[in-house]
Amino acid sequence: MKLDTLRDLLVAELKDIYSAENQILKALPKMAGAATSTQLKTAFETHLKETEGQVKRLEQVFEKLGRSPSGKTCKAMQGLVEEGNELLKEDADPEVLDAALIAAAQKVEHYEIASYGTVRTYAAQLGDADICALLQQTLDEEGATDKKLTQLAEGCVNLAAAA
Ligand code: FE
Ligand code: FE
Ligand code: FE
Repeated sequence: MKLDTLRDLLVAELKDIYSAENQILKALPKMAGAATSTQLKTAFETHLKETEGQVKRLEQVFEKLGRSPSGKTCKAMQGLVEEGNELLKEDADPEVLDAALIAAAQKVEHYEIASYGTVRTYAAQLGDADICALLQQTLDEEGATDKKLTQLAEGCVNLAAAA
């Protein structure tokens, strides 16, 4: 891929995020299935629905740019998902596994927050207000999900008591 302009870089980064979101779409049902706490299960299921909307939003962005969303695999997300899958194979106490799932999910959210923050700023610098607004919407959802996960992690009080 030729990267001559900031717009080329925007498209390259968006393709990476599109790949990442599609990997997350497949991983979230597994994480919801593995979670013991009802609240955590619900949080994963809610974010799955949001993620479906985020993929559609990205498709809108690509349409506005007149470019195709395919052509890149996010290797970082492959790694994060692989680490998550490894957790599911561990012989873990259910509450400890929940805490580990929260940690894995927050790593994913932080990757997304970094990625969307970047493309949102590129879009703003290029004067693409519509694209900037779409990306900001997703960035806000990722931020809210991260905060929700932090709350759930802080709720893992039984774990601390057991220690
Ligand atoms: Fe997302
Ligand atoms: Fe990536
Ligand atoms: Fe997310």
